[in-house]
Amino acid sequence: MHFAPLSPTLASKHDADKSEILEFEVLLILLFMIGILKRCLSIMAGEDVIRGLADVRGKLENAVQKLSYKPHSEPRLVAVSKTKPKELVIAAYDAGQRHFGENYVQELAEKGSDPEILERCPDIKWHFIGHLQSNKVSKVLSVPNLHMIETVDSEKLATTVNQNWGKLGKDYNLKIMVQVNTSKEEGKSGCSTDCAKKVVEHVLNNCPNLEFVGLMTIGMYGYDVSLGPNPDFITLKEVRKDVSEALNRSEETMELSMGMSDDFEHAIEMGSTNVRVGSLIFGAREKK
Ligand SMILES: *Cc1c(COP(=O)(O)O)cnc(C)c1O
Repeated sequence: MHFAPLSPTLASKHDADKSEILEFEVLLILLFMIGILKRCLSIMAGEDVIRGLADVRGKLENAVQKLSYKPHSEPRLVAVSKTKPKELVIAAYDAGQRHFGENYVQELAEKGSDPEILERCPDIKWHFIGHLQSNKVSKVLSVPNLHMIETVDSEKLATTVNQNWGKLGKDYNLKIMVQVNTSKEEGKSGCSTDCAKKVVEHVLNNCPNLEFVGLMTIGMYGYDVSLGPNPDFITLKEVRKDVSEALNRSEETMELSMGMSDDFEHAIEMGSTNVRVGSLIFGAREKK
């Protein structure tokens, strides 16, 4: 015997409802799994950062041990987080890292003001290490926890930073370094070795809201250390010696910011007090 369904249209409508509910559930489960996957990936990446950081710190300490003298203080490690997500900044902070560097104004502003970073990394110290244009100065200065600008390369820029910092009415001076174009490459930022002295003098004499910390160089990319001491590092040391003699200040009062992933151990060997390491901690960057 064959019974026709009471109402075929009703039955199939019911089935359709059911499958819609099913689809919805599958979607929910999928979303949930994507969430877990994303979390796992960021935890994994976070673990890589912790490992990279430990590795760099170990190498840094080794390089310090090999010095023939005992430095005033251990070279500062600035973790350069450019192009990397905030989760990795937080992971490195949780592993004890405090100094971070960014070289794009917009990216520094975003990370520096990020509510999660502000809450979870209250003691973070941002270094600006990129080329700074006068019209971007106030944006950089408004970043909470800005610690240092390493790339002041003209008297004019120093004046602008000094005036803007003064307007903010802080009760401490902003730390700055003077960037020197040691490789004399065209189009590279940093002032010439000759003008470095003038900029430093200007900062010391005419910029009461700034604290002069030292000299910084990026130098030529891809120098082969097996050829001997990096000429850029030699030049930066010479500039420091000149400035020290001309301005009658001891060399120890002037830091040297030099050395990146490829050569920070070599830079420490040559007297660097501030190394800026990115890819060795956070992994290779995609080209911007
Ligand atoms: C990106 C950058 C670094 C870090 O470079 P890595 O080779 O990734 O360590 C250091 N200093 C400056 C000025 C940079 O722009």
